[in-house]
Amino acid sequence: MSDKPSNIGWNKTLSEIPLAPWLQQQTTRLCEQILDDLPNVLPDGKDVDDFLRMVSLSLGQPIAEQLYQVQVWAVRVFGADSELAMDWLLILRVLKEKLFQRLIDNFGTEGMAGYWPKVDRIVTYALIETAKLTGGNSEEALILEHMVNLRRQMEELDRTKSHFIQVAAHELRTPLTLLEGYTNMLREEALAEEPLVQMYIAGLDGGTNRLREIIGDMIDLSMIESGIIQITHQEIYLEQMVRQVSDSIRRTFEHRRVTLVVESFALPHAMYGDPERLSQVFKKIIGNGLKYTPDGGTVTVRAEQVRHDEATADIANYIDVQVQDTGIGIASEHLESIFESFGGTGDVKLHSSGKTKFKGGGPGLGLPIARGIVEAHGGRIWAESEGFDERKLSGSTFHIELPYRTAPPQLGEKG
Ligand code: ADP
Repeated sequence: MSDKPSNIGWNKTLSEIPLAPWLQQQTTRLCEQILDDLPNVLPDGKDVDDFLRMVSLSLGQPIAEQLYQVQVWAVRVFGADSELAMDWLLILRVLKEKLFQRLIDNFGTEGMAGYWPKVDRIVTYALIETAKLTGGNSEEALILEHMVNLRRQMEELDRTKSHFIQVAAHELRTPLTLLEGYTNMLREEALAEEPLVQMYIAGLDGGTNRLREIIGDMIDLSMIESGIIQITHQEIYLEQMVRQVSDSIRRTFEHRRVTLVVESFALPHAMYGDPERLSQVFKKIIGNGLKYTPDGGTVTVRAEQVRHDEATADIANYIDVQVQDTGIGIASEHLESIFESFGGTGDVKLHSSGKTKFKGGGPGLGLPIARGIVEAHGGRIWAESEGFDERKLSGSTFHIELPYRTAPPQLGEKG
């Protein structure tokens, strides 16, 4: 069985676990832990419980509303009582640490990365309000306020980036259509026997095709980032699908003298998923295997059913498709960042438009799209590698883990 990174595990993806109910479940234990650490503070368990309830109710609210809730809480709980505010300052600091730890314990570092900013923002607002009301601690309040502003700016930047991709993709479509139209007219008008003209037309075709793919990727990415990607479930035979994808790109492998092997999946029955979207994922991952493997290497695709619960020997309901290459590998510090948009590890100047050329880096949209599609199916995707080494060539393995569904998901269920 593969050595997966720690995660929320089992059969849940991040967005399936609502944070607020989780926080409510944790409340009693958290209150006890905090008050054990701080036996001499004035607030009691009910007060801490009341605060955590406010936090869980504020989750998912607009920022202005969260701030308002925190201010109302601060005025109601300690108002101008600076001694009480000092105690709350202590409680909130300890609470922050405990929450951070519990999120890691429950959801692993990956899950924590998604949830922590949401909780942390509200607790930090509370810290700022409390620090302001303790009177003497205004410097701390200022620093905290600055941190919150920085985070807000980063979120804003993220939104701007997504918006930019969306607008750019749509704006680029019009000139692309023009280019395609004129190329077609040229093809019809040009003298068939004129080899130079035919060569120019083939060049135009190649360029417009690549441009269409990049624009398509940009649109896919913006749909994923805004959470509106549609998954249309159909019965699929995964091995057959992967073989079809492999056949469609086999020529490029032969051209580069890289062997593509698809081992038997030996899966007992069909599954449900979006054939078009999943083919897109496999095409990208297998294509990357070729791109980052030098001539003479091998890309192997295999699959295994995953038994998540070894202890109870629960029936396996996931399929882990592995795409392993004998290429240059990936440095450990990049194993996660390559799944972020524009997360390529190389120098942009070295990007080539060749999709199959060895190390022909692209815009870095493929893996985030693949992750978006896999997660929209309720699955996970991650990479493993012993490291980047162009001489040793220990390669990389990409895992695409999908729910082994025997029926389309129910309404409200992920995927
Ligand atoms: P692109 O190939 O367009 O740059 P991707 O999102 O497909 O973008 O990949 C992001 C980065 O991940 C690549 O630039 C490369 O550095 C790294 N990468 C992806 N697949 C592999 C692989 N099989 N072996 C080594 N590095 C890889």
